[in-house]
Order: sequence, then structure tokens, then C-alpha cells
Amino acid sequence: MNYAEVAVNSPGSRSTFSYAIPQGLNINVGQAVLVPFGSRVIQGIVLRLSDKPSVEETKEIADIVADFPLLSPVQMRLAQWISEYYFAPPFDALSLMLPPGFRRRAITFFQLADSQANSPLTPEESQVLHIMTGRMKTSLPEMEKAIGGRKARQITDQLLDRQLITQTLELEEARIKPKTLPYIKLTADRQEIEIAKARLDKSRAYKQAELLEFLSGQTQSIAVGEIRKHIHCSPATIKALESHRLVSVERLRVRRDPLAHLGFMPTPLPVLTSSQQAAWELIRHVIVGKASPSGRPPIFLLFGVTGSGKTEIYLRALAQAIAAGKRGICLIPEIALTQQTVERFASRFPGRVAVLHSGLSPGEQFDEWQWIGEGNCDVIIGPRSALFAPLPDLGLIIIDEEHEWTYKQEDKSPRYHARDVAIKLAQLNGAVVLLGSATPDIGSFHKAQQGEYQLVELKERITPRGYSPLPEVAVVDLREELKAGNTSLFSRSLLAAMKEALAQGEQVILFLNRRGTATFVRCRSCGFVFRCPRCSVALTYHSTEKRLICHRCRYSVPVPQSCPRCSRRNLRFLGIGTQRVEEEMKHVFPEARLLRWDKDVITRRYGHEDLLRNFRDHKADVLIGTQMIAKGLDLPQVTLAGVINADTGLNSPDFRSSERTFQLLCQVAGRAGRGLKAGKVIIQTYSPDNYIIDAAARHDYLGFYHKEIDYRHRYNYPPFSQLVRLVYRHANEESCRREAERVHRLILGEKSRKDMTDFNVIGPVPAFAFRARGNYRWQLFLRGPDSTRIVSQLALPGGWTIDVDPVGIV
Ligand code: ADP
Ligand code: ZN
Repeated sequence: MNYAEVAVNSPGSRSTFSYAIPQGLNINVGQAVLVPFGSRVIQGIVLRLSDKPSVEETKEIADIVADFPLLSPVQMRLAQWISEYYFAPPFDALSLMLPPGFRRRAITFFQLADSQANSPLTPEESQVLHIMTGRMKTSLPEMEKAIGGRKARQITDQLLDRQLITQTLELEEARIKPKTLPYIKLTADRQEIEIAKARLDKSRAYKQAELLEFLSGQTQSIAVGEIRKHIHCSPATIKALESHRLVSVERLRVRRDPLAHLGFMPTPLPVLTSSQQAAWELIRHVIVGKASPSGRPPIFLLFGVTGSGKTEIYLRALAQAIAAGKRGICLIPEIALTQQTVERFASRFPGRVAVLHSGLSPGEQFDEWQWIGEGNCDVIIGPRSALFAPLPDLGLIIIDEEHEWTYKQEDKSPRYHARDVAIKLAQLNGAVVLLGSATPDIGSFHKAQQGEYQLVELKERITPRGYSPLPEVAVVDLREELKAGNTSLFSRSLLAAMKEALAQGEQVILFLNRRGTATFVRCRSCGFVFRCPRCSVALTYHSTEKRLICHRCRYSVPVPQSCPRCSRRNLRFLGIGTQRVEEEMKHVFPEARLLRWDKDVITRRYGHEDLLRNFRDHKADVLIGTQMIAKGLDLPQVTLAGVINADTGLNSPDFRSSERTFQLLCQVAGRAGRGLKAGKVIIQTYSPDNYIIDAAARHDYLGFYHKEIDYRHRYNYPPFSQLVRLVYRHANEESCRREAERVHRLILGEKSRKDMTDFNVIGPVPAFAFRARGNYRWQLFLRGPDSTRIVSQLALPGGWTIDVDPVGIV
């Protein structure tokens, strides 16, 4: 094979390129290489080898980055699937699986050659040679700085032609490096040690003698830091022993263990309840018997109410897979929840759990990646990206809270959904997939109804009191409160319930789907609303900073005294946020210890962990938070959960807003009463008759599902059609709209030519955040069985982004 098809690290590059393989370079599929690209040299990954190039003229591969393939054949196939299904540039899909810190630029260096000039030099050539004189090597950027970009390239090319200089390529220095620590090892034998000790005692070098004594009790080399925990020893002491050739010091690679700060308590294996046992039997058979004969991966949907013991089933499934010589990945939706899950998993599989997430330092990520690749762990826990770690022998993928939207990568290419990627990955490995949720994704539940997934149910909640019913939910009509003259955030029944819970020393959580103190600020005289000049979304008032902040781009301004449009001093703060709730709580319950949990509070690295631990240790009585508190937390001392306003999201135009609101309400309701005492939930709303609120109050997933799936069917929304979102961004508003309209016409033309009656285009409309970071954005939605096929025929120019299976439409 003389040619390689390479995916290159050049942003947005949708095609791959053919390169010739130079003599003597051993190139394999999955290998990282450096290739010339335009005037630069960039990184690439070899996709295929062939005898013939795909174009007539090819350049040669410049070099290899590592002499072994970085990606396995399965990873290569997964990347190909992601690239094709999500219309993502091949390198974007591949780079998901590259080790942290892989992306580096190649830098060209010049060296003076031995040869002499056989014809006169131009003044510029002399200048360049002069710059290089006396130096080992000079980089192209250095040269560009000295004589200007274009000239540097041109003159060095001439000198290369004349063989007066040579050039080499080097990758820029790695930002992430393995961490090493000094280790000491005894090199002397018993006899030599005894002689040395006697000598040291005599010369009163007691420290050296002590260290020598300590080391002779060790079976292998030991870290200097570790020795210092036992005896006092200075660098000089070690040096002295080293110089007498009694010990040797070497730097060994160590793992930056992100779990080192946690302590694990081994816990006894609980006896499964009868429902867990029944569920487990179904799953166990398949894990033992492995993949189904159809070649499709066995996929379970574990539909278990909040607190029904799903996690225990995950742990059993992992243990079973490990017993069969396999390993597993467990995806969780949010970094904030890692600690609780990690603790449970790590105490079940001590020393065999790796974690991966963006909250780790780059060094830790790098080390976990290596550690996983070397086969040192059995279980990986992490968010969606954990799917791409180089885990050998993959046998099981678990997706906890599978309905969560965080499993979809929306903000950058490839815009993949972890559930679908996991299923593909499992298929490539012959692995089992276990999806778990108390409120499954409507699409997932539909698949289970169709027999595509196997439905396994856990209907009872387990608490220290044994099986116990889900908490009782009361719906409070806020209109009645207003009529009764209560304008506070808290209804009379929520107030009474909080009073009681706090008096009993129990914990309360208050949920609000919104940050800040007010959603927006409006002028009561002229109706002016403060908006972000860059994104056009309404700005949110934050009382602590006394500023208006854009939740999209962080733009902020101090709140003015008067309206910028009509100059009157009649500004009104509308809506409520977590800060408002906190302020009102302080006012009503001055003694209660409050914790607020939202993105504004949590910015530090272990912020989430600290906050959760404090709350679980009962260092606070009330936790006020946004979505984050709705995500699978196990807080046994919480007996009351209050939803301040359930209506956020009810009136959204998004076809998935009902599903989203239902899931949030059920999840919040599921936080109460998980401990020794029964729980209570109060949902405040202006629309108590809404079926979503009604179903959530009765914990009635099935009732909600049937209504929702009818609606999806009637309006041809997923899962009955496929959605693709096309977004165009442009700095000029007019050009942006026109391009969106042009593509719209193209699609409509195709629709009528092919007579596709069940295919629709929604839009073009300005995107929800119409202006984002200075660009205007217009969008189109394709809805129908052929959406992706139509997109593949469009040949969209730059500026368009394609999102296949978007999780929402606003
Ligand atoms: P879920 O993941 O469904 O929300 P969990 O697995 O967190 O539920 O279980 C809820 C609680 O019940 C946890 O405190 C867990 O330790 C406990 N639990 C689960 N299974 C058992 C069991 N078989 N026996 C005793 N306690 C259990
Ligand atoms: Zn903004």
C-alpha cells in the first residue's frame, strides 16, 4: 500500500485527503501523522490505506506522531459512524477518541547545512543565513518575526533549494506531561549494608543509618515523599547514601489520581429486594449469555421510580460483566453528581474505578486515559465523553438518567447523542446496554414499547423503612393565594410545611428553574426590556452584583436608575430567580441555614462536591437550586421538596417542553422522603389543571407518556419523524436571512420534485438567541423520514451548522 487517506486537523474540513507514504515509513490505519496542508504542516489520522491515490497529485506524509496506532479498529469504525450520521468533519469525530492534550501544532525548524554557496547570495539570503549563524536551529515563527511572514517562507524556500539550509518538523511542546516523582531503591546487598551501618554509626551519621535501616525493611523502591511520612530525611542524607552507591534514586511515573482525596468505606452487599431480584434475573441472563443472535446489541430500559434501587442493579451488572472478563462504562449526566456515584462504585470495586470529566486537571485527564488504556481499571464513570476512553474488553455500557439532555453535545461538532453512540459502540463490541431512568425519554420508552429495547421495571421505592410509597404531592393554585392577598413567593401551605419540617430538624429543598433574582427588567412606562447587545436575549438581574447579566455570553452592565429609552424612573423587576427565593427565605426564616446551588455559586473545582457534602452532613437546612437539584441526588434527610413555580417551560413553543417539565417535576418530587421519614412535595402553579402538572403530582409516567406520544404522532414529531436543525450564522442580518431563505427554497424544490408529503420544513426563523456573540442566526428545521438524506444532498456552504436529532427546537 503506497497511499493513505488522512483526516486532517483543519477546522471544518469535511473531506479527507490522499497522501503518498514515503519509503521507510511504516504507516497503519489509526495512526497519527503530520501532513503538509496548504503552506502548513498539520496533524492527521490515517483512515485507510490504498494502492491508488484518490486524486492525481499527492504530497507525502511528513512524519509520524507516534509509531503505534492511537485508535483501535473499533474506534475508527465508531468515528466513521459519528462523522456520517451527524454530518461532522471526520477529524472532529476522531478527535473525541484522541488522548487529552493530543492536539498540537507542528513547527518547522531550519538548520545551516554544511555546504558552501556556489553562486552569490542575495542580500536577503545573506540576512537569513546571518540570523541562523551560531544557533542550532531557528523556527519558522522566529524567522517570520525577524523578516516578515511572506518573506521568511520565500527566502527559506530558496535556501532549501540551494541546499544551504535543511528543515525539520517538530511538534510544539506538549502541554500535558506525565508526572514523575523521585523513588529510592537499595542497591547494596545485606553484607554491604551491615558494613555501611557500622561505619555510619561510628561517624555519627545517624540520619543516614536510620534511612538505611528503613530502606532495608522495604521490598521495592519507595517514593521520597512516602519515606518522609515515617522518618525525617533531608535531601542531603539521600545524596550522601547515593554517593556511597548504597541507594539509587530514579524518577518514576505516577498517576495523578482524581479520587485520592476521597475515602472509601467498603460496604456489605445488600440483599436484593424481590423486585430488584426479578429485574436482575432478566438482565443477568443476557450478560451471561452475551449478545443476541440478531447481531443487534441487547438494550435494556430499566424503568424504576426514584429511589427504587436502580444503582444497585448497575453495580450487579458491572460485577457480572467483570466476572466474565469484561469491563464497563457508566455514564452520568452531570459532573456535579459524580462524587456520590463515584463513592458508591469505588467502594464496590476498590481501586478499579476511573473517573473522567472536564473538572479534572489536564494532567489528571491524561493519566486516567493512560491508566484506562493499560487495562488497569474495570469501570469508568463520567459524562458522555467517557464513551471514548480507550477501555479494552468493553462488555457493558450503563447510562444513568438516560432522559437527561446533557447527553447530547449541542455546542460543538460533532453534535452527537451519547445514547445513540453508546448503542453503536456496544454493537461494535458485542456489549450490553443498560439505560436507566424514573422518567424515560419519550423516544426510549417508545422503543421499549416497540420491542426494540427490553423493558425492565422497578415499581417500588426502597427506603430504610423498607418499600415505601412515593411522597405525597400537593398542588397549590397560586391564583388562590393572590386572591387571599398572599403575594409572597411561598403559598400558605408551603410556608406551613417548611415551618414544620424545620421545627423537626428536617431538611427542605426548594426548586426553581431559573437563576438570578429576576428574569428580566422592564420599564413600566414604555415597556422597554433590557437585552444583551450581543445576543439579544433578555438580561437577568443579579442582586449581589447589582448587575444585569447575559446568561448566554456573560455580558453584564450595572442596573441604570432610569429607562434608557424614555428616561423615566419606572423600572420594574419581573420574574423570580434563586437569589430572590434565598432573600425571601432569609426574611421569613432568619434562623434557617440556607444553601444556594446554581451555576452562579459553583465555579470552583470541587464546588459541587463541597456543597453537596455540606448539605448531606446537615450543615444547612434548606437547599435552593435550579435543574441541578433535580438530578438523581440521594439526600435521605430531605422530607420536603417545594417547587416555587412549576409554570416555567409550560408555555414554551418547543415540542419537547412538556416532556422536559414533566421530567423535572417528577425528579424534584423524587428527592423527598428517601430516608427514615416519609416525604412531602408541594408544587406551586398558576395552572393546576395542566395535565403535565397533574400527571407529575400523581407520579404517573405512563399516563403522561400516552398523552405525549399521541401528540407526537398527530404532529409528526420524533420518534415518528427525524428532526434536523440547520443554523446559519452571519455578521450581516440581511445576508443571514437571505441565505436561510435560499436553502429553504432548495429544500422545498426537492420536496415537490420527490412528492414527499410527510416531509416538512419549519422556518426559516431567527434562532432563539437571534444574535449570538456578534453573529445573527437563522434556523430551519427539517421534519420527516428523509431529513438526513435531504441534508446530504444540500452541499451547504460555510457558516451553516447541522444538528441531527436536536434535543429541543428553541
Ligand atoms: P435509584 O438509583 O433508583 O434512585 P438507589 O439505587 O439510589 O435508587 O437506591 C435508593 C436507596 O435504597 C439507596 O440508599 C440504596 O442504598 C438503597 N437500596 C437499594 N437497594 C437496596 C437493597 N436491596 N437493600 C437495601 N437498601 C437498598
Ligand atoms: Zn449576551
